[in-house]
Amino acid sequence: MTTKYPSVLLIYTGGTIGMIENPETGALENFDFDQLLKHVPELKRFNYHISSYQFNPPIDSSDMEPCLWAKIVKIIHDNYEQFDGFVILHGTDTMAYTASALSFMLENLTKPVILTGSQLPIGTLRTDGKENLITAIEIAAAKHPDGTPIVPEVCIFFENELMRGNRATKINAENFNAFRSFNYPVLAKAGIHIRYNEHCIRRPDYSRPMKAHYLFDTNVVMLTLFPGIQESIIDSVLHVPGLKAVVLKTFGSGNAPQKEWFIRQLKETTERGIIIVNITQCPTGAVEMKRYETGIKLLQAGVISGYDSTPECAVTKLMFLLGHQMPVEEVRRYMNSNLAGEISIS
Ligand code: ASP
Repeated sequence: MTTKYPSVLLIYTGGTIGMIENPETGALENFDFDQLLKHVPELKRFNYHISSYQFNPPIDSSDMEPCLWAKIVKIIHDNYEQFDGFVILHGTDTMAYTASALSFMLENLTKPVILTGSQLPIGTLRTDGKENLITAIEIAAAKHPDGTPIVPEVCIFFENELMRGNRATKINAENFNAFRSFNYPVLAKAGIHIRYNEHCIRRPDYSRPMKAHYLFDTNVVMLTLFPGIQESIIDSVLHVPGLKAVVLKTFGSGNAPQKEWFIRQLKETTERGIIIVNITQCPTGAVEMKRYETGIKLLQAGVISGYDSTPECAVTKLMFLLGHQMPVEEVRRYMNSNLAGEISIS
């Protein structure tokens, strides 16, 4: 598309933003994209070329799967040259997982990919969907004077804040501010103006092509510790046939019980080549395994640090790396490297 107007591709996957109340059951059900656009006549006022692609049927994001991430990536890949940016309309429930996954699947991304949705359907009077959609489109089309995009990253835009996608977490099932980025500053704030935090935005290598990846290995589990957790439970989770990696959600700065059986279970597991990544149950802060005796025991058992990763990011990064069928040592090394701005390591 050779045009002086910015061009944006809207990919509508589903979610509350495009739902309508079923008059018989009262439940929210998906409606199609044309109906959705009817509720946002403001889009016509943009001097942009806006095209759309609709999932058929649209899905509630609780049904999101890696094969659907691959579908989104294929759409972006096939349309990459024609558009300046991409906006993905997505349910909020698993939006942070999708944003994390896409940040790894779209290697050397040089264009904005902005996910958004809403807490209230776009057809309702007090909807937050219109605002989120309109500003997401504006961000997807925004460029520097030299023609490079302002935000060449996978992001979530929600309730006036633009967040790096693999740093965001859904925190609210009620209020409009549904997402937070606890461990990384917001990339932009939308008020009267959209103010970009330029120094926090990643700069890709424009001389390299964007490379799309599609494969995932889902033989992973997330295990949350709590006082009183039983050996039999840990034992059965760690012996699930085919298991390749565990995201272990520990206490505080990466601490876990020091009990002999617990450390032994972890050590035996890592010795079988299963990767165990330590992330904290706290929404803010990072794992520092050398800080307390309890953390050091985990290090000695072969557990690796997940630094300040969100759970959504840790689990999708593991599935992504395992999907590449690389040796365990390489997956461990990549888990401790910053691939797409997902962890803070010096
Ligand atoms: N259940 C919906 C979804 O994630 C919720 C939402 O969109 O906010 O698809």
